[in-house]
Amino acid sequence: MVSAVGKKNLMTKSPKETQHLGTLLGNGLNGGEVIGLIGDLGSGKTCFVQGLAIGLGLSAQEISSPTFTLIHEHKGRKRFAHVDLYRLEQVEAAESLGLVDYFDGEGVTVIEWAERALTLLPSEKLLIEFKIQSKDERTLQIEALGESYHSLVDRWVRRYQSGRNQGNP
Ligand code: ADP
Ligand code: MG
Repeated sequence: MVSAVGKKNLMTKSPKETQHLGTLLGNGLNGGEVIGLIGDLGSGKTCFVQGLAIGLGLSAQEISSPTFTLIHEHKGRKRFAHVDLYRLEQVEAAESLGLVDYFDGEGVTVIEWAERALTLLPSEKLLIEFKIQSKDERTLQIEALGESYHSLVDRWVRRYQSGRNQGNP
């Protein structure tokens, strides 16, 4: 039996590479996915989301870091909600954002600082933890929870690896 939890680790050596990884994931999204991004300031979450946006038919420039709006809604190939909980003080505040309303829909939801509201996220989801290894190196620890996310990650990583074998970033 295939395990319902799949973990993988990837390393990137430039912002461009992190963005590209996001685009490859975005290309494979069909709507309804919930993706939680975990990790310190400057670890590459927004960079990854910019790539994800490209994969959904948007432009990277449409993705910005938080002002006072915690949820930014976009419409590309799918509806796309970009949530950034950096300014969130407590989980209770996330509840009042109506975050959960996004999870049942047809759109894609990506959440930066997902560790601040993990209890609100659905049990089936994709979690990616970003770690700073050096000035230009980041590791992404990918955890797929639920069968559909498991196969999503398998397809994503395969696309990434076949691109690398062909000499792409
Ligand atoms: P976060 O949203 O996690 O706070 P950002 O994506 O806004 O992080 O910023 C990441 C910063 O780290 C950018 O200044 C980017 O140029 C830099 N950086 C250096 N190497 C990488 C890498 N491999 N992947 C992503 N960002 C990187
Ligand atoms: Mg950010």
